[in-house]
Amino acid sequence: MVVLKTAAEIAIMRQSGRIVATVLAEMRERVKPGVTTLELDELAEQIIRQHGATPSFKGKEHSDPGAQRFPASICASINEEIVHGIPSASRRLKEGDIIAIDVGAYYNGYHGDSAITLPVGRVTQEAMDLMRVTQECLVAAIAVARNGNRAGDIGAAIQQTAEPQGFSVVREYTSHGVGHELHEGFSLLNYGTVGHGMVLRPGLTIAIEPMINAGKYGTKVKKDKWTVVTIDGKLSAHFEHTIAITEGDAEILTKLD
Ligand code: MG
Ligand code: MG
Repeated sequence: MVVLKTAAEIAIMRQSGRIVATVLAEMRERVKPGVTTLELDELAEQIIRQHGATPSFKGKEHSDPGAQRFPASICASINEEIVHGIPSASRRLKEGDIIAIDVGAYYNGYHGDSAITLPVGRVTQEAMDLMRVTQECLVAAIAVARNGNRAGDIGAAIQQTAEPQGFSVVREYTSHGVGHELHEGFSLLNYGTVGHGMVLRPGLTIAIEPMINAGKYGTKVKKDKWTVVTIDGKLSAHFEHTIAITEGDAEILTKLD
């Protein structure tokens, strides 16, 4: 079911979003060669709990009942890992890596969900281009996330930003409604056709999250059943914001003033 939020609900989501943004701002400072993804995770959890929130991802069930629940507060996905990387004491960042960090915080009944991809020290020009283009995809998507536009406009904006610059859009994972539930009501493809799909209305809250690959768009899942990697081992980047559709420009909820 598609849920439209009231102004009061969006005010709470602004708070959960701000907590997520605070965590990601700290991650920007901490990501450097030698840091483990578990250290980043522990710090993220600490910040989330200091704000009176709980980590949205920790303990999340897998669609496969045989898989472990997600054990951490962030997803940390390095290089060819696209999303859902599990933080580990044995994953130490090294110069030249790129790392996607995805954070969710649940506060006062509502989730905020946001991700960024960061360079570890100096990275290749291709990696820089991939991160820039993925961020451009998110900006383009948010620009068309407007009252009366359609879901397909968002997918098309992402696809038409990524593909002409030589990158591909991940198909098997999507953007999604967000609110009381982390994944709420609907999925929204990150590729598509202008004028198709669900009509966007004020009060819709959406986590828009393009995942963009340097090579082919195909994916596979590692043995841990969580970590999604590119089919060809090439780099992937991920940026995400939780936004609210309004009468005018979309409001980004996962940001610091
Ligand atoms: Mg996320
Ligand atoms: Mg999400």
